[in-house]
Amino acid sequence: MSKNNNRRNFFKKAITAGAALAPLATFGDGMKQAAERIPMYSKPADLQITEVQCAYIRFGHGLFIRIKTNQDIYGVGEGADSVPGTYHFVKLLENRLKGKNPLNVHRLFDDLRKSGIFEGAQAGMYIGVLSAIEAALWDVAGKALNVPVYQLLGGKFRDKIRVYCDTALYQQNLPTPADFAKAATQAKTMGFNAIKFDLDQRNDPAKYDLYNWTASPGELQRMVDQVTAAREAVGPNIDICCDMHGRYDAVTGQQIAKRLEPLNLMWLEEPIPAENVEAYKIISDSTTTPICAGENHYLAYGFRRMLEIGAVDIIMPDLQKAGGLGEGQRIANLASLYYVPFAPHMVASFLGAMASCHVCASVPNFMILEWQSYFHTDPMFKEIIKYDGKWVENGFIPLSEKPGIGVDINEEGMKKYATPGYPFFK
Ligand code: MG
Repeated sequence: MSKNNNRRNFFKKAITAGAALAPLATFGDGMKQAAERIPMYSKPADLQITEVQCAYIRFGHGLFIRIKTNQDIYGVGEGADSVPGTYHFVKLLENRLKGKNPLNVHRLFDDLRKSGIFEGAQAGMYIGVLSAIEAALWDVAGKALNVPVYQLLGGKFRDKIRVYCDTALYQQNLPTPADFAKAATQAKTMGFNAIKFDLDQRNDPAKYDLYNWTASPGELQRMVDQVTAAREAVGPNIDICCDMHGRYDAVTGQQIAKRLEPLNLMWLEEPIPAENVEAYKIISDSTTTPICAGENHYLAYGFRRMLEIGAVDIIMPDLQKAGGLGEGQRIANLASLYYVPFAPHMVASFLGAMASCHVCASVPNFMILEWQSYFHTDPMFKEIIKYDGKWVENGFIPLSEKPGIGVDINEEGMKKYATPGYPFFK
């Protein structure tokens, strides 16, 4: 029997049932509308993965995965940063997924993790690619079961997700305090109540040595002047956070954290590289400026010791990199045991942003999610995806209520931005 016939019989039964309950005259219509929303060919128990395709943008740093199934349902997911050059690896994982039911998301995640123990499935590119695949599995599952991903993650604590605007001033050569003030004012005018700045400047003329990670007095003063200008521009009630991209040493981290204390930052991010969490603890213990890290840590395991010893005040896993949506929720829940807020890093497209939103909605200790100012200026970000809802409104992303993640890839639009020499949805 065809699926259409199944649906017709279902409506007949529903309408007969409705007739027996005369006051509920709209019952049949309501059921029909609900059933219409269910994908035509969804028989969840018989779903199977048939193909895993991928495409790359931004010099290979943006990975898009499309998982196809035997039932005309597909899922999309995104990986960011730790994914260049991974096409053949995607194909290796495709072989391990073919024929499997995509609804067993945690089980497939576990299968891929454990099958890769000797291939590097502890961190790095392995987990970056796994993050994109895992997100696409949730998208398939949501579409097959006709619910948004947050529902599959246990429901939502909130309907809209607070974001901070990354000003991306690093794209400018040696931004001045006036540039900081201008970018802060612009973000505030656009409705954001939280803003991020980058303090590391590789080409700072006050720098004495590219390989020595101690900031000179001139560099420290430049950072203080920049953040002071931003604070004075927006006043005391806008959150400001500052990123150092792990490009300094522990003594610089302590010095800058101390000197920025009067400016009341939301956080100081990655003053030192990710690897040594004990060094993070030295900085955190030395200052009242909240210290934040996590975008270069992988899996819940990567956050365990950091949280156990109180190395940071806030964690910022990247859900397109650290293991995906289920793992992101696990990291957030682990952090909540230590009363540590969860503030995900996000440098993906709006697909990754909305995927992250489902996790942010699903945990109590969500603090804020990253948002990029270039979403508003670079047309690529609008062209590569399909989404008809509002992206951001007064500093919040309204959570999608569509089945799955709720955002699709626009293959035609993405084609012109595809990384040359890389496969495109193959
Ligand atoms: Mg960062």
